[in-house]
Amino acid sequence: MHRLQNLGRNPRKTNGISNPHTPLYIGRFAPSPTGPLHLGSLFTALASYLDARANRGQWLLRIDDLDTPRNRKGAADSILSTLENFGLHWDGAVDFQNRHLEFYQHELEKLRQKDALYACTCSRKTLSDYPQTGIYPGLCRTTPPSEQIPSALRVKTGHTLIAFDDRLQGKLTRNLATQDGDFIVKRKDGIFAYPFSVVVDDYRQGVTAIVRGFDLFYETPKQIFLQHQLNYPQPSYLHIPVIVDTHGQKLSKQTFAKPVTAENKRMVIFELLHLLGQKPPEALKTLPVSQQLEWACTNWTPSALTGQQQLSQYHHQELPITT
Ligand code: GLU
Ligand code: ZN
Repeated sequence: MHRLQNLGRNPRKTNGISNPHTPLYIGRFAPSPTGPLHLGSLFTALASYLDARANRGQWLLRIDDLDTPRNRKGAADSILSTLENFGLHWDGAVDFQNRHLEFYQHELEKLRQKDALYACTCSRKTLSDYPQTGIYPGLCRTTPPSEQIPSALRVKTGHTLIAFDDRLQGKLTRNLATQDGDFIVKRKDGIFAYPFSVVVDDYRQGVTAIVRGFDLFYETPKQIFLQHQLNYPQPSYLHIPVIVDTHGQKLSKQTFAKPVTAENKRMVIFELLHLLGQKPPEALKTLPVSQQLEWACTNWTPSALTGQQQLSQYHHQELPITT
């Protein structure tokens, strides 16, 4: 771990010249420090780790800590130690979003200069009168707010179709104007919003391949739109299915998924590989985690999950996770 120094803005370039020795694949895992790592996030971490290692790429770790009201004390440390315990070693220094506030603002100014932003003072209550929840009706775009009250910043979307090819889920085409509306890039409380920060972060870190949960699949067109607006290269995307509980709910800190502990790590990795459709041989069950991961990198076949959006962990032996 910490094998490489802080990678800076574009790890593939030194003084503007491409370095042929640095890998072309740069992946990342970007948990939010809202609680300990749970099974669903370990599953995502494992998939993105395996995809990076199987492609001889780098695997970066970023702590998505911009949304300060949701951060929990000690969560980042706990996530890092869980990843280490499970042998998921990352490259370079851990990146923290909160250390890059000036850079987000700098990139936001580029959007402002293109006249792509406008202030929005609409309250949740105002918006609840509109039938299409989640699609902003453009009120402040047509009638700019007159009062100087705290406002969010929205980006103007257009009727252009945004399409991308997911490595597992196939092609998604979306009309942002009718399916998402003008979306928020900076919140009323001054916090940079997820679709904007993630795009700036991945650019800043030179990320070329994104592997993450299917819950973010429909968020992707907005992110590609911002990449176009900011002239950033587009990474590849692979959205893996999310693990759901017996009620069909995504496992998350909000649904109180049990945190993963180091107990019986071999069993956990074995079962996660099984859930990832990798058909691990029985003999792998009792091998040390380092050997399990080595096998999994060599045999990584993400296409085993093609088109799958949800997985129930109860299809398989229940995982021996203790709290
Ligand atoms: N930080 C985001 C989350 O915890 C993930 C960001 C991403 O993978 O795009 O859900
Ligand atoms: Zn508004």
